[in-house]
Amino acid sequence: MKKLLPLLPALFLASSCTKKEEITTDGTIVTTIGMIADVTREIAGDQQEVINLIGEGVDPHTHKPLKSEMDLIQKAGLVLYNGHLLEGKMGTLLESRKANENPVFAGAEGLKDVSLIGDEHHPDPHLWMDVAIWTQVAEAISQRLGEFDPANQSDYATSFTEYRKQLGDLDTYAKTALGTIPPDHRVLVTAHDAFSYFGRAYGLEVRGIQGISTDSEAGTKDINDLIDYLVEKQIPAIFVESSVPYKSVQAVIEGAAQQGHVVKNGGELFSDAMGPTGTYEGTYIGMMDHNITTITNALGGGVSQEGFQGKLNH
Ligand SMILES: [Zn+2]
Repeated sequence: MKKLLPLLPALFLASSCTKKEEITTDGTIVTTIGMIADVTREIAGDQQEVINLIGEGVDPHTHKPLKSEMDLIQKAGLVLYNGHLLEGKMGTLLESRKANENPVFAGAEGLKDVSLIGDEHHPDPHLWMDVAIWTQVAEAISQRLGEFDPANQSDYATSFTEYRKQLGDLDTYAKTALGTIPPDHRVLVTAHDAFSYFGRAYGLEVRGIQGISTDSEAGTKDINDLIDYLVEKQIPAIFVESSVPYKSVQAVIEGAAQQGHVVKNGGELFSDAMGPTGTYEGTYIGMMDHNITTITNALGGGVSQEGFQGKLNH
């Protein structure tokens, strides 16, 4: 009997090794895109560490998660993402996390009273382009944060209320500024179809050179049709996007020039990624302020180049 006792620790070791591996979370919050990260940071303040995966100038439609990003998603206490297939190549990973019942939340999915653009199975995912809709996403995120960390729930609710005021001012500015564009010129042409919600909310007709995802290339016929349209309507400018190659925009500008119509490059817009971290344009409000101000002035409206808070860096 005495001889058996020293064996016990070894037995424990053996049994702990064969036990099914559990995922231990490190309590961080991981977000996929900057627009979700920024809203989360505004609401969470210093209470939570937020790690964002897809950064400045990177296209979420085609971004393949790195091994390190997969690990962060696995380990996070809470994962917040956009959804509606925006994070195309991360979808499987996010779904598998859902299956494990670890907290994961698609901010742009399941919103009440929001009519989605596109078809039922593949709606347009670019919901941040309508500030009123994104305010609802911010509210949903503040509720999720409260569930994730009930001790600070009331702080999150207070931060959201303050942030909602700023978003309200931004939405008002969008309507006023874009409303100064002459009605005939309220046409927004960008590299890919990211601005449909923007156009619907603020009264612009929107045309993308590529489709709804950057995964597809624009066909020659599409480009020629677009050129004819721009010439016919005498639209003065089209726009470049920070996360989409310039090539197709260039083709449209050159095609219009051959028909004797000068289309300007109206400037770079932030579509699926925000500006550099640490700058005003690297926040959701700053990116939208930049877009609204740039579009307004290039299409013949008139607002201060410094934007609605005097913070834009031109
Ligand atoms: Zn997009």
